[in-house]
Amino acid sequence: MRDFSNDHSALALNTATLGHNLDGHGAGWSPEQVIEGCAERGYGGVVFWRREIGARAIEIGDRVRDAGMEVAGLCRTPFLTGPLALDGHSKIMDDFFASIDMAAGLGTAVLTIVTGGPEPGTKGVLESQKILADRVAEAAPYAAERSVNLALEPLNPMFGGNRTCIMTAADALRVCEMVGAQNVGLAIDVYHTWWDTTLADTLLAAGPDRILGYHLCDWLADTADMMLDRGMMGDGVADLKALREAVENSGYRGLCEVEIFSAENWWKRDPSEVLDEIVKRFRAVC
Ligand code: ZN
Repeated sequence: MRDFSNDHSALALNTATLGHNLDGHGAGWSPEQVIEGCAERGYGGVVFWRREIGARAIEIGDRVRDAGMEVAGLCRTPFLTGPLALDGHSKIMDDFFASIDMAAGLGTAVLTIVTGGPEPGTKGVLESQKILADRVAEAAPYAAERSVNLALEPLNPMFGGNRTCIMTAADALRVCEMVGAQNVGLAIDVYHTWWDTTLADTLLAAGPDRILGYHLCDWLADTADMMLDRGMMGDGVADLKALREAVENSGYRGLCEVEIFSAENWWKRDPSEVLDEIVKRFRAVC
């Protein structure tokens, strides 16, 4: 397991941590300010959301690399299944392809998939996982041609009504197998997987190359809002070292991205303070 106690070069910022993905939240830093703030603190990478990038993917990607970092990922594809997905297969796929184009423009190797929930008219998740696998399989070659890997992110089961049809790493791996493409893997997020005592065995069995991302935060003992009350690393009950060990035992050596949705706490603070605190916590408790 890597030692981060004196080295945070593997640290990446997901800009959601600064309130960037919801209107009216955060300090409203531009991508340029985020890049500068991360670079001057020695971060290794930045993960953006599509709404920040607009038509500037190439420019922003180059700026990140000129600052000595990498674009560690792009959030995210549209929902591919479920009640929140766009209306109809072709609209969903068009937006899926557009998200791949944006990832390619940024020069990032990872595009995150938040799957969407059970398809309207179906019960449970298995049928939706098949539809999901078909849609991912349809886009995977296009992504591969553009050097983009697709990371299926299992979400905490409490999001299973409308935002996800994969709740565990085992679910995500099963969908990977259904897709059968080299450039499809999974992202492991502390918020979504901290409770899963089968995670380490599942990831070990998955083998190297399947893990495409590791997302850091903490699970607060008194979580007040399921979407927007994630904790800073060290403030909650997740066993962060054990989770990283599980991820690294699978062979993962990539960046670790901090992704904290926190409307009532961290999004209200000065981004400079948040970026400094992340570095401290990353070295101390991750
Ligand atoms: Zn995540």
